[in-house]
Amino acid sequence: MWEAPARALAPMPEISGNIVNGLGEHEFRRASPFFWHEPKYHAFGDMQGYTIGVMYGLEDGADIRKAFSVNENFRPGTESGRSSNEQFIHRGPDPIAVAPEKVIDSAPEWSRKLKEFALAHHADAVGIAAMRPEWVFEGFEIKEKYIIVVGVAHDFEEISQAPSLPGNNRAIVEVGKQYTRAAAAAAELNNYIRRQGYGTTCFPGPTAQDLLMIPAAVAAGLGELGKHGSLINRKLGASFRLSAVTTDMPLEADAPDVFGAEEFCLRCQVCTEACPPDAIFEDKQWVRGEEKWYVDFDKCIPYFAESRGCGICIAVCPWSLPGVADKLIGKMAKLQVRKAGTEK
Ligand code: SF4
Ligand code: SF4
Repeated sequence: MWEAPARALAPMPEISGNIVNGLGEHEFRRASPFFWHEPKYHAFGDMQGYTIGVMYGLEDGADIRKAFSVNENFRPGTESGRSSNEQFIHRGPDPIAVAPEKVIDSAPEWSRKLKEFALAHHADAVGIAAMRPEWVFEGFEIKEKYIIVVGVAHDFEEISQAPSLPGNNRAIVEVGKQYTRAAAAAAELNNYIRRQGYGTTCFPGPTAQDLLMIPAAVAAGLGELGKHGSLINRKLGASFRLSAVTTDMPLEADAPDVFGAEEFCLRCQVCTEACPPDAIFEDKQWVRGEEKWYVDFDKCIPYFAESRGCGICIAVCPWSLPGVADKLIGKMAKLQVRKAGTEK
């Protein structure tokens, strides 16, 4: 098993990230602000700064920085003179003003139009959910009623180069490019809704803001949570990035897409065996009142920092392999039929 070097452990605070995350807690509570939030909100600012320093600090770091700010319309926050943490904050362009007159249409029609627009503007997957307070970090607030979550796919050839150790930055450059594309998808959608006269808030990522993106994405039908702590989508596998927009435009919520991925993880150990610091729990854990797949933050993050974003677990996940998802879904469906037969 990989052992973290002292330099990667030095910036870690005394408090465990698993405690902050609520590992082992059986009662529901809202999530506390954490890693990838602005450092003023949590104890992991030094580790965040170290992670960004390793990412951008090697000889090929300029390519990575460029990938995280490909679209020149963005304000990537990379001007010199800012702290290394602030350099990572990626808020997207300023939104346009909300049109004074509301365009009126039905919830099903707006939902159809938004999805069509998103898929024509960078998104590879899109879904809608009714907002819930449990998806908002403690101390933050989201007032809008609906959330539209978009997913953008990685190029599998590039992400399968993970981890990005010195001399090979292909995986992290791909992650940067797709975060930028996800931010562009959210920004375009945000402005489209504003042109129709409805207020919005844009969540472009990759830094955390008010919103817990993954549970909202599950509810919006973008996939199931995998053992590696990332979403598994039926078309894109685990190899994609997310961004979102919230709004009061009348919309129709999608249902979660349960196609067997979460159950597949019960029998699969590909990511647990591939993870160098052995950070992926074999079994589901209680986290703030919910039993779910969970990754040990304290074990993962030093390797994540040293390998410039790691990405091994999403690259090796069988669902991420292009062309394989349909076969796996068929296999899971047959298993369900057999199980139903034996339960009669
Ligand atoms: S990102 Fe890397 S270190 Fe973290 S859980 Fe995945 S494989 Fe393990
Ligand atoms: S590699 Fe296997 S166990 Fe891990 S998330 Fe993917 S399907 Fe689940």
